[in-house]
Amino acid sequence: MKSYFFFFLTLFFANLHYGQEGPTNIILMIGDGTGLSQITAGMYANGNKTHLESFPVIGLSKTHSSNALVTDSAASGTAMACGVKTLNGVVGISMSNEYRSSILELSKEKDYKTGLIATSSIVHATPASFYANVISRKQYEDIAFQFSISEVDYFIAGGKKHFNRRSDRRNLLKEMTDWEFANNLKGFDASMNSRVGYFTNDDEPLPIREGRKPSLQAATASMLKKLNNDEGAFFLMIEGSQIDWGGHANDLGYITTEFIDFDKAIGEMVQFVEKHPNTLLIVTADHETGGLGLSAGNVKNFTPKGGFVTGGHTASMVPVFAMGVGAETFAGIYENTAIFDKMLAVLNKN
Ligand code: MG
Ligand code: ZN
Repeated sequence: MKSYFFFFLTLFFANLHYGQEGPTNIILMIGDGTGLSQITAGMYANGNKTHLESFPVIGLSKTHSSNALVTDSAASGTAMACGVKTLNGVVGISMSNEYRSSILELSKEKDYKTGLIATSSIVHATPASFYANVISRKQYEDIAFQFSISEVDYFIAGGKKHFNRRSDRRNLLKEMTDWEFANNLKGFDASMNSRVGYFTNDDEPLPIREGRKPSLQAATASMLKKLNNDEGAFFLMIEGSQIDWGGHANDLGYITTEFIDFDKAIGEMVQFVEKHPNTLLIVTADHETGGLGLSAGNVKNFTPKGGFVTGGHTASMVPVFAMGVGAETFAGIYENTAIFDKMLAVLNKN
């Protein structure tokens, strides 16, 4: 009897020790407007391969908002960031008019470091869902102000003009006194400041095929060097923003080039997870854009061809890919708000 007791005691402490290997890093990668057809087209255009193939768990997310079967990026961003369905156009506010805390803000309560990367401006609906609460996603100056007092530690994105060329004549960059702003990735890497930002563009960054710098992979690698230190865990959101814009333009080449840029960043993250197993990595989309159908193409050189049913978004479910700690909970079909719930469950285990 006694020996059984010690056996279970040993098991208990072994598990306790295992659980204490440190809190879990949480990384959410969002391909805006990236449905299964966008992934398929990008994969073929990339020589029939994508880093998504290395993910052990795949699920499907229902993207509808509270007032529309077809969501916009504000409502779906809010669903994933804050765990509530809301009206199209609304950022971080629930149907009962509650200002919701995002997973980024909740991670901060656990002493996480936090980072945001987007290939749009930082005030665009998707990244804004992680730090702002506004009735309309178009309130760019209000969103910029809320960013200036937010819980974000590091960012790489566009949109500088919303901070320093404002209708209220305030220069938020001067007000953000504990921040250092870099002019390029080298400067971002070199800064020893506890909060560092790099505005990649005054306004919206260029498409990658028109020479956008830095690549999402390079931005991701620099961000990981900042976030991954000995002091603790981090939350990071990376958005491939312009896959959506390719969908709105019904431009398959725009979609595939943006997807390939996003896919290289996924590859960078997969390598990170292999070296740092104490990490949850999720790759998903906020919705599909364009109703893309791949109706033709050439199998010899994997050239996809197709057509679109709309210049807007569609209601199609979008895939969710997961690996690392808690990844198994992402299998199945669920509402996009469950992505928040599942991340929060991992955060609360710490
Ligand atoms: Mg977006
Ligand atoms: Zn869109």
